[in-house]
Amino acid sequence: MSRVALGKDGKSHYADDFCDSYDGPYFCPNPKCGVEMRRKNLGTEVKKYRDIKPYFSATKSRPHIDGCEYKNTCLSYADLDATGFCTDTFFKALLSGGSSGKRKSVDTPLIKDSVHNENKLTTLNQLYLYCLQHKDDDKLPDQTIIYQIFQDERNWNRSKPRNPFRMIRLEFDNAGKRFSDKYKCYALWCFFPPDDGHTERDKYRLIFRKDQEELFRALAKQLESEKGKQGKLFILVGGEWQRKFCEITSKRQIFILNRHR
Ligand SMILES: [Zn+2]
Repeated sequence: MSRVALGKDGKSHYADDFCDSYDGPYFCPNPKCGVEMRRKNLGTEVKKYRDIKPYFSATKSRPHIDGCEYKNTCLSYADLDATGFCTDTFFKALLSGGSSGKRKSVDTPLIKDSVHNENKLTTLNQLYLYCLQHKDDDKLPDQTIIYQIFQDERNWNRSKPRNPFRMIRLEFDNAGKRFSDKYKCYALWCFFPPDDGHTERDKYRLIFRKDQEELFRALAKQLESEKGKQGKLFILVGGEWQRKFCEITSKRQIFILNRHR
């Protein structure tokens, strides 16, 4: 299920936007999938899921492709809450391996001050889910536009500038085995955009300085073994991108995604 779907008009639409004059058909936003979706859980129906907003769902006769991000997503209000999100704080915490904010405890009084207005999206996966369920042109609370910090197949050919600090959905290729004297780093190699058979793809490199050798070896081992299971492996990588290079200093910068195809 998804909160956002593509219309025949080439635009994205929200299931809970009742002012939208477009009335279907709707399609899965994943360009590799694109199955028709129907609006569900509207106010006029008996709500199947009380705690979620209206959503789009594929039909039984034509389900999503295997591994489609929109297949089994269950949307709670909490998943779509970006209160207090700040791009700088998020990436600073991600790179240092720390937390960018604590979730409120149940008995925290709802006082609106800086202490309680903490960032609710703290991991790459949370931010990824949030971005998938919003339009590329939507703004996060700190006015950052989603496509500026989120690069994937859905928006890969946009020409507008992106934030150097952003996350990219990449296909893992392989781990360099040795320290490169030329580049003074270890490297994990990836592709973007993922293969569709006719788009020319770029090589992206995740680099580790010599003092991060331990982190490099641990991640390389994990990614190579995941890759061995079923071929293609997709990962989400967050950090500061300098063209096609990103330095990795924390395990939290890499998140292994569902398999595709
Ligand atoms: Zn789909």
